[in-house]
Order: sequence, then C-alpha cells, then structure tokens
Amino acid sequence: MDTSLPPRAAAVLEELLAGNDRYAHDRPSHPHQGRRTRAALAVGQHPAAAILACSDSRVPPTLIFDQGLGDLFIVRNAGQVLSPDALASLEFAVLELDVPLIVVLGHQCCGAVRAAAATFGGDDVPEGHLAQVLAPLAPSVAFASRQAGGDDLEVLSELAGLAHLRLTVKALRRAGPIIAGRVAEERLGVVGLRYEFSTGLTRRVDAGAAVGVGA
Ligand SMILES: [Zn+2]
Repeated sequence: MDTSLPPRAAAVLEELLAGNDRYAHDRPSHPHQGRRTRAALAVGQHPAAAILACSDSRVPPTLIFDQGLGDLFIVRNAGQVLSPDALASLEFAVLELDVPLIVVLGHQCCGAVRAAAATFGGDDVPEGHLAQVLAPLAPSVAFASRQAGGDDLEVLSELAGLAHLRLTVKALRRAGPIIAGRVAEERLGVVGLRYEFSTGLTRRVDAGAAVGVGA
C-alpha cells in the first residue's frame, strides 16, 4: 500500500496495478462486463478512478488495467494534455462521482510528444489544429533538450515524455479550486504512470523529479 496517498486512493491504485499485472501476463479476468453489469449500471456510475490518457490506440486504459464497465472515468486526447476541457471533465469526476484517484497515463513512443519534439526549435508548423495540442508540450521538450545534450529525436522524445508526465501530474495537483482543494484535504490522490509496450506494465513516475520544469 502506498502510504504517500490517501488510503482510498492507495487502495484503488493497488487494484489498478494488480489488474495491469494480470493484463501484462496474459491472465486478464475481464471483470464487470456483460448484460447484467450493463443493466445494473443503467441507474448510475461509481467509477473507482479517473484517468487522463493519450488517445493512442495501443494504450486503452480499461484493457491495460483489466477493468470493466463503470470502473474507470477516462479522459483522452493526443499526448494526455491537461487542456481546459480535460480539466473540466476530471473536475466532474471528482466533484460529481467522488473518485479518490486520478491517474495520468503516459506511454513509451508517444506520437504526440514525438511530433512536438520534431517541431521544437524549427520552422515546421503543424497542419490544422494540431499546433493547439502540441503547444502545451513545448516546456517539456525544452527541458528535455537541455537534458539530452544532443539532437537525437528518439532520446529527446522519451525524455520529453517523462518530463511532460511529471509536469502534468504537478499541474493537476495544483489545479484549483476543486482538485487542489481535495488533494490538500487528503481526499484525492494524483499519480503518474508510464506504460511500456515492451512489458505491458506501467511504472510510477513521480511528479517531484521534474525539478526546474515549470515549478
Ligand atoms: Zn501518446
């Protein structure tokens, strides 16, 4: 049990990590699915956690954590960016659904982060509305470029992805008044998890490690 989190949040995180372990080792239990669950949920939802995740088709939170219908309140966009819309949806989950835990779910080889890294410092302007998605990633890419000490796009992208995950967790914990208030009251936990394609597992990425990035 993670003692840095409120007890309810720690218990939910433990359940999600247990589900992730089942998924990663090809032993999913596919809980809470089927007609009876669907019918029981028609009157309301009580999800255990809210997830801010990337839209990447390879990273579906319900499958990765081996959960079912009604278990996870999921907000997704390219690069799991904490946009005003995403924040509003997470506030709904906290305020109306009383979730005790928000997970920010990053992942290896994120196309959105890679695109932000590829355009960093250059003259390439993304087409259409993509610039709006990539702009919030710029501080993480700038931090990563100082860390990377070179121009290897793969290295820069992975470092930027880690920095972005840490920064997003930090920003979410400070997002007032609703989320920051519940975190301060120890009624809500916010954690960062990074999904790895190579193992199928997620690992905890602490917000505190991004010292100097938008602190
Ligand atoms: Zn992604």
